[in-house]
Amino acid sequence: TTFVNSPLDPVLLENIASAHYTTPTPVQKYSVPIVAAGRDLMACAQTGSGKTGGFLFPILSSSFAQGPRAPPAETDTGYSYSRSRKAYPTALILAPTRELVSQIHDEARKFAYRSWVRPAVVYGGADISQQLRQIERGCDLLSATPGRLVDLIERGRISLANIRYLVLDEADRMLDMGFEPQIRRIVQQEDMPGTTERQTLMFSATFPRDIQMLARDFLKDYVFLSV
Ligand code: AMP
Repeated sequence: TTFVNSPLDPVLLENIASAHYTTPTPVQKYSVPIVAAGRDLMACAQTGSGKTGGFLFPILSSSFAQGPRAPPAETDTGYSYSRSRKAYPTALILAPTRELVSQIHDEARKFAYRSWVRPAVVYGGADISQQLRQIERGCDLLSATPGRLVDLIERGRISLANIRYLVLDEADRMLDMGFEPQIRRIVQQEDMPGTTERQTLMFSATFPRDIQMLARDFLKDYVFLSV
């Protein structure tokens, strides 16, 4: 199997070729058609399996084809200057650590190259003003740690109203680190599109009971993939 004959967007295929990826890993091979068919996904995959491409490739490919979304009119309330200062990402990736969201962001930048999709990254323990400037410059695909994202939502700087794709990466590690309240808060934001309006992908190395509960609450009629 090569990427060349896969149903991915031609611009994305060029970016994949530039990264010298020639063959999809198993998780990439299986996730692309599942996500392209509009299905939710619960994937058990380890670090090193190529799971980052497993969610970025189908999300970017579909996003390139769909194009950007205009900010919803009903959120244009309150302070008149807030609209231009608020970011409306269409894809959100939650992951447990600064290192992991930075790696995901680096991959996103490579594969979103020459497209309308502007990747951004936010994480805790770092200066927030620099991250605010970055998301103001453009924030279509956001990689975030849960705590810092809650902070930015509370400051009114990020709206989830335009989300088409939600990814929970290393979900078991996020729960081990105590992020469940923040994750639930984010997913249950009142402007977050519901399970039928968004597509949700969860990746976890293990599938214990608490992960099964999250999958039950956040995913709709999902495909279970174990690689
Ligand atoms: P991940 O499991 O997503 O952290 O990926 C592990 C490593 O494999 C990363 O360094 C990726 O850049 C690399 N990688 C992922 N997919 C491919 C692929 N299809 N071909 C070659 N390298 C890849």
